[in-house]
Amino acid sequence: MGHHVHVRLSQGLSVSENGELIEHSACRCGATFTKVFDARGGEPEPES
Ligand SMILES: [Zn+2]
Repeated sequence: MGHHVHVRLSQGLSVSENGELIEHSACRCGATFTKVFDARGGEPEPES
């Protein structure tokens, strides 16, 4: 078989204990992926 290009089908979102948004996705072949979005991306951290 040649190269298989995974198709990332969204499986939903969750939030890690660090407050990061995690997107779960999976290909029909069974491969799974996670993509982490830093929820604080670039923004100054409010300190109160
Ligand atoms: Zn695949």
